[in-house]
Amino acid sequence: MIQTAFAESYPSRRNRLARQMQHTAKSSVRLQKDTSNLFRDRLDEAGEALSVRDFNHLLEIDTAERTLVSEGMNPYGELVDASLEYGFMPLVVPQLKTITIGGAIAGIGIESTSFRYGLPHETVLEMEVLLADGSVVSCTPDNEHADLYYGLPNSYGTLGYVLKLKTPALPVKPFVRLDHTLYQDAQEFFDAIAALQHSDIDFLDGSVYGPNEHYITTGRFVDTAPFTSDYTYLNIYYKSVRARETDYLTVKDYIWRWDTDWFWCSKNLYVQNGLMRRVVGKKRLNSQTYTRVMRWNSKWGATRFLNRIGGFHCESVIQDIDIPIQHAAEFLAFLLNEIGVLPIWICPIGTGENASRFPLFSMHPNATYINFGFWDAVKSRTKHPVGYLNRKIEKKTAELGGIKSLYSDAYYEENEFWQIYRSNEYWALKDRYDPNGKFLNLYEKSVLRK
Ligand SMILES: Cc1cc2nc3c(=O)[nH]c(=O)nc-3n(C[C@H](O)[C@H](O)[C@H](O)COP(=O)(O)OP(=O)(O)OC[C@H]3O[C@@H](n4cnc5c(N)ncnc54)[C@H](O)[C@@H]3O)c2cc1C
Repeated sequence: MIQTAFAESYPSRRNRLARQMQHTAKSSVRLQKDTSNLFRDRLDEAGEALSVRDFNHLLEIDTAERTLVSEGMNPYGELVDASLEYGFMPLVVPQLKTITIGGAIAGIGIESTSFRYGLPHETVLEMEVLLADGSVVSCTPDNEHADLYYGLPNSYGTLGYVLKLKTPALPVKPFVRLDHTLYQDAQEFFDAIAALQHSDIDFLDGSVYGPNEHYITTGRFVDTAPFTSDYTYLNIYYKSVRARETDYLTVKDYIWRWDTDWFWCSKNLYVQNGLMRRVVGKKRLNSQTYTRVMRWNSKWGATRFLNRIGGFHCESVIQDIDIPIQHAAEFLAFLLNEIGVLPIWICPIGTGENASRFPLFSMHPNATYINFGFWDAVKSRTKHPVGYLNRKIEKKTAELGGIKSLYSDAYYEENEFWQIYRSNEYWALKDRYDPNGKFLNLYEKSVLRK
């Protein structure tokens, strides 16, 4: 086992933070850190800020037991660098470098290993959580805090903060061979994904560029590569999916293949042009830069202003939706016909046997879901009610037995929300772990944007 040492030990920093939490007044506490991938603007930044910037270390790696112990606010970018040094990666690494391991549990993550290992929260072995009263509890699937172990995923910091967690580690090889296969028919595409789920590949995701253009990308670890491509500067990964059948990347470049261009969303910042990429520079071509620009834009309303003078009404449609695979073709047709956002990222999820035990993100156990990721602003000359398209998506998701991530806008009525995200279990957890309401509740945070 390798343990990493720091100027101030984890227990010392944890105890200091716990004391700070004990002395916070009964108000809405919020996390203070350098990055965030939350895509809904808070209406009110009030509340006491708890600085957790220094909970960003990999504490242990056990190469024999194949486990990692990381601090909760460790961004995957750093966690991956540290674990690759020992020939391992976390089982599921979300695509954006600044997503933290605790954030992916509290706010749901996913990636191309999810077809085999499920969502990141399903892989957690043990976690230490800071509660509203300043105490710290350890939760496992079967100890006295098992309710919090299952309740924390999708709780968005409304039950406590994950400070430390133990997860399995996946041994890697130096390279990944990618194969991109085109399917014209949507049903054949989803059938092929289902068939691949039990094959010997290591990675599986897909992308849809149009009604007759669905690509499956499989990845396999390999020891050697005849060549390697580079999508960290002038070449753009998502364009390569349509342009080549086979490709090779280093394992690190594979893990971050979507980060350089934020999937394809960098197009909104005009940096998919070669000249612009040179001007911006390799170092700044990443999701962190784009998030900063989008936040600035959201604050100052530059795009809103341009749309207004152009006579457009614009709705932000930034969602990740999980749909049982048997309804995936129907959901895709709905997205193409009624929403119109392209491309769409597709990622299969093979849920584990405990998937229905997570009350705030309950899925059928041992089932296959398809994650649809679509992120854009839809322009129209017609003025619709606020959240018009997002409401349609919420209704269709419910109709097809799916579930939606809450990192972006949600428009649910309160009753409807609590039916999906299970009010009984949630309020029982709130009573036990935050009886004085020091944290906001999930509806306030994710729909009312408090
Ligand atoms: C445009 C966009 C694309 C995305 N794409 C992907 C993707 O491709 N793959 C993927 O897996 N996910 C994706 N996500 C979702 C992302 O994983 C979640 O939003 C996640 O919660 C972000 O983690 P963060 O560390 O940035 O947390 P933050 O954005 O800082 O916080 C998110 C919420 O979680 C709470 N929180 C943060 N850390 C902790 C903690 N340690 N303990 C308890 N609560 C905590 C915060 O209070 C906050 O309410 C995407 C999100 C966006 C906005």
